[in-house]
Amino acid sequence: MKYNLHTHTERCNHAEGSDREYVEAAIAAGIEVLGFSDHCPQFFPVDDYYSFFRMKPGQLEDYVSSVLKLREEYKSDIKILLGLEAEYYPQTFRRFSDFIADFPLDYLILGEHFIGNEYDYDSFYEGKSDEELLKIYVNQVIEGLETGAFTYLAHPDNFYFRGRRSVYRSIMKKLCDYAREKEIPLEYNMLGYLNRRNYPNPHFWKLAAETGNKAVIGYDAHNPRALLNERAFSECQISLKKLGVRTVELGEMRLTP
Ligand SMILES: [Zn+2]
Ligand SMILES: [Zn+2]
Repeated sequence: MKYNLHTHTERCNHAEGSDREYVEAAIAAGIEVLGFSDHCPQFFPVDDYYSFFRMKPGQLEDYVSSVLKLREEYKSDIKILLGLEAEYYPQTFRRFSDFIADFPLDYLILGEHFIGNEYDYDSFYEGKSDEELLKIYVNQVIEGLETGAFTYLAHPDNFYFRGRRSVYRSIMKKLCDYAREKEIPLEYNMLGYLNRRNYPNPHFWKLAAETGNKAVIGYDAHNPRALLNERAFSECQISLKKLGVRTVELGEMRLTP
């Protein structure tokens, strides 16, 4: 069964298309379960910083009601799930969890875009060779997954590490071992694949294959058209198959609000 739990909306300021267009594209693509997981609101303990790439707390209500309306309207064509993509930031997670508790979310995915609490660290997409930062990333992701709040780990390999491969492997092994032990699927990110980003990182996925991790393909759709890209989806499937990494069925995943 074809499903996708990684879908954004315009509310995050860097995605386009109406919520309805995502649903209609998913139906056209033969996706049977579509999960919305837009970039969540955050609660930073400083007044002079707010991310440009996520909804504001005041937008969550509109997001939830729009997705729930579409779920009802299209229920004979597709199953729609309501989720969020969230980071685990030690200083904000509690407040975030309390805030979302009043909303009927079906699941969360962990997409760790920064370490620390975002406002106090640079993004790590531009390439870093500092192994201490990579260790912090791994430990923080594990701490986040340890909350039990997340269904899967989005782009586990988004840290653009420029140091030695052997160092990368030995640090990331801890993350792979943890995910394997807890049976948390790792996402093979189709947006990164299409945009030729530093992820999916072949070295990471070789390690995941050796560790016995299971994968989920996430479209990470920031545009309804992305859902129609069947070629990219099957190329991702083929890559995982070649690596010997099994993809999980939706029913094997623990949906966690
Ligand atoms: Zn995004
Ligand atoms: Zn995303």
